[in-house]
Amino acid sequence: PTRAATIPGIRNVIAVASGKGGVGKSTTACNLALGLAAEGLKVGILDADIYGPSLPKLLGLSGKPRVIEGRTLAPLERFGLKVMSIGFMVDEETPMIWRGPMVMSAITQMLREVAWGDLDVLVVDMPPGTGDAQLTMAQATPLAGAVIVSTPQDLALLDARRGVAMFRKTEVPILGIVENMSYFLAPDTGKRYDIFGHGGARQEAGRLGVPFLGEVPLDMNLRERSDAGEPVVAMAPDDPQSRVYRDMARQVWAALSGAGGLKQKAAPTIIIE
Ligand code: ADP
Repeated sequence: PTRAATIPGIRNVIAVASGKGGVGKSTTACNLALGLAAEGLKVGILDADIYGPSLPKLLGLSGKPRVIEGRTLAPLERFGLKVMSIGFMVDEETPMIWRGPMVMSAITQMLREVAWGDLDVLVVDMPPGTGDAQLTMAQATPLAGAVIVSTPQDLALLDARRGVAMFRKTEVPILGIVENMSYFLAPDTGKRYDIFGHGGARQEAGRLGVPFLGEVPLDMNLRERSDAGEPVVAMAPDDPQSRVYRDMARQVWAALSGAGGLKQKAAPTIIIE
C-alpha cells in the first residue's frame, strides 16, 4: 500500500471510521477529541465526511476559515480544539457529487494546507463506509491508527468488520472498536434496555483480535447536547457518558504514545481479493 507523507508538526493522525452512516461516528470523533484534549494534549479535528459534514453543528461553529497566506487556511477553534471541516468550504444545502480526484484534493488541502501548528493528535472524522472514496482517503492520510464505531446489531457489525479489513489492507493499526448506542437507561426508572442488543462489538473485537474501547449508552441528553453544539465531554466532563469517552481517549493515547503499547493480539491474516 502507498504510504502518505507525514505532516510537519502533527505527531499522530488517527481516523474515526464506521462501516455505515448514522452509527454515531461524528459524535464519537468529537467527544474522543475532547477527551484527548482533557488529558492535556494538543488536539485538532478534521471533518473529512464529504457526504455529511457534521462537525460545524456538533461544535457550534460556522463561518469560513481565514486565509493566512497563499492557500493556507487558519483552522477555527472551539473548546480548545483546532477544527477544520469540509462543511466550512461547501454550502450545506448544495448537494455535491464527489469524483475520485476531488476527494483526493479536498483531503490533501484540509490536511496539508491548514495551519494546524503543533499537535499531539489530529482526529479525522472519516466518511462512513468502506468504498473507494473511503479507501482513497485512508491512503491519502498518514494514519497512526483507526478507531471503528459500531452499534451492536449484526448488520452494523458486519459493516464494522469491513472497516477493520479496509484499514488492515492499508496497513493502518486498529486502535479499537467502540460500541455506540450500546444500551439505554430509562431516565425515569433507571431500568436498562438493550435496544439494539448489547455486547456485539466487544465480541467482534475479540474475534478480530483488536482492542475494545468502550460502550456508549443511547442517551437523550447526549443527543440533545450534540445537536445543540454543546458536546458532552466539554460541557459535562464528569457525566457517565463523558467518562466513557475520556477512558476511550486514555486508551487511544496509551496506544499511540507506546505506554503499554497496542494491546493487540496477533492479528489474524485477512486476505482481500
Ligand atoms: P454518523 O457520524 O455515524 O453518521 P452521528 O454522530 O452524526 O452519526 O450521529 C447520528 C445521530 O445520532 C445524531 O443525531 C447524534 O446526536 C445521535 N447519537 C449518536 N450517538 C448517540 C448516543 N450514544 N445516544 C443518543 N444519540 C446519539
